[in-house]
Amino acid sequence: MAAEALAAGGASVDVFGAMPSVGRKFLMAGKGGMNLPHSEPADAFRGRYGARRAQIAPLLDRFDADAVRAWVHGLGVDSSGRVFPTDMKAAPLLRAWLHRLRASGVRLHMRHRWLGFADEDASVSRFVTPDGEKSLRHDALVLATGGASWPQLGSDGRAVAHLASRGVDVAPFVPSNCGFEADWTPLFRERFAGEPLKSVAIEGRAGECLITEHGIEGSLIYALSAGIRERIAASGGAGMEIVVDLAPQFSAERVREEVLHPCGARSMSSHLQSRLHIAGVKAGLLRECLSKEAFADPETLAARIKSLPVRVMRARPIAEVISSAGGVAFESLDVRLMLNGLPGVFCAGEMLDWEAPTGGYLLTACFASGIVAGEGALAWLRERDAA
Ligand SMILES: Cc1cc2nc3c(=O)[nH]c(=O)nc-3n(C[C@H](O)[C@H](O)[C@H](O)COP(=O)(O)OP(=O)(O)OC[C@H]3O[C@@H](n4cnc5c(N)ncnc54)[C@H](O)[C@@H]3O)c2cc1C
Repeated sequence: MAAEALAAGGASVDVFGAMPSVGRKFLMAGKGGMNLPHSEPADAFRGRYGARRAQIAPLLDRFDADAVRAWVHGLGVDSSGRVFPTDMKAAPLLRAWLHRLRASGVRLHMRHRWLGFADEDASVSRFVTPDGEKSLRHDALVLATGGASWPQLGSDGRAVAHLASRGVDVAPFVPSNCGFEADWTPLFRERFAGEPLKSVAIEGRAGECLITEHGIEGSLIYALSAGIRERIAASGGAGMEIVVDLAPQFSAERVREEVLHPCGARSMSSHLQSRLHIAGVKAGLLRECLSKEAFADPETLAARIKSLPVRVMRARPIAEVISSAGGVAFESLDVRLMLNGLPGVFCAGEMLDWEAPTGGYLLTACFASGIVAGEGALAWLRERDAA
C-alpha cells in the first residue's frame, strides 16, 4: 500500500522482501476466504482498536472499510456485502495488485532481508541476499515487516530489534487473537479436546469456543484475548478465570428454577440435559471446573451454570496465533508514521503496537497505515527537496 501511494505520487519505488515471494501472510489470511469487515458505523469500527483507537482512527479517516471496498473494485475484483464475498480468495487479488504495482514502475526484490542501517543517519540499509550482504542508499524508507506470528510466512519480529537498537520505543511482541492454555485433567482432555462449545457467553458476549488439548480457543476467545492476556500478565503466574455462561438463552432465575425442579429418579446429568440442554462438553466442563460438593449443591450448580469460572494459565505460543500486539510504539512516530528519531524512516502495518479482532480489522488498519506512511514519505521527500 505504501509502495502504491509512493508510485502514484511519482516516486521511484523498490520493494524488498525477505521471502522468495510477496504477501505470504496475506495469502494465508485469505486462504479459506478472506474476511474483510462489513460496513459498520464509524464509531463502532474505530472501537475495535481498543486501547489504540485514538492512534488508529486518523489512519481510518484516510482509508476506511469503504475505501478498502473501492480499492478492491479498482482491482477488478467483484465484491458484495462483505468487501469480498465470503469465499473470496486472496490469490487473485494479490495477482491483480502485483500486476498493477509492476505496471506503475514498482520494482520487487525478493530474498532481501533488511538488517538495519549501515550508517549513522539511517539513509543506508543493510540487506542479506542470496549474493551476500548489500548496502543500499534510500531517500526515504517505509518499513512494514509485520508482527511476530506465523514466522514461517516471513514476519518473525526481528526487524524491530534493529529499530530498538537505534533508540526507537518498541514493546515486546505478544500473542493476539489467540487461544489460552488450561490445565485440563487427562480425562476431560481425552474426552472433549476438539469439541466445539456452542451457544455460550463470556463477559456478556455470545459466541462459540473450542476445547483443545491445550486449553480453549475459538472466535469468542480471540475476540476477548487482549483483556485475558493482560489479566494473566497481571496475575503473577496465577492465571485468570474466564467466566463462562453455559446457558445464555436462559435467565439466572429460569436456570435456578429448572435445576431446583425435583428430578425424581433421574440423575442430575439427565435432568440438566432435558431441562437446560446441558450435555456433552458443557456438562463435562461443569464437572471439570466444579468440585463434587459444588456440583451436588443445586443452588451452587445453578449459579455456576450461568457463571462457570474456567482458569486459563497462559496464551498459546506467538508462532501459532493469528496476530500479535506489541512492536513500534506510536509515541515514537509522528502523524505521518515517521519515526521521530529517524527522519525519512516510516513504519506501517502489524509491526506497530496495536491490535484488533479478526474479521478484517487487522488488514484494514494495515492497509490504512501503509497509505498514510507512503503518503507521509512522499510529503517528506517533497518538503526536503523544496528546502
Ligand atoms: C492464519 C491467519 C489468518 C488471518 N486472517 C485474517 C483475516 O481474515 N482478516 C484480517 O484482517 N487479517 C487476518 N490475518 C492477519 C493479517 O494477515 C495480518 O495482520 C497482515 O498480513 C499484516 O500485514 P503486514 O503487511 O503488516 O505484515 P505481513 O503480512 O506479515 O508482511 C510483512 C512482510 O515483511 C517481510 N519481512 C519481515 N521481516 C523482514 C526483513 N527483516 N526484511 C525484509 N522483509 C521482511 C515478510 O516476509 C512479509 O512479507 C490473518 C493472519 C493469519 C496468520
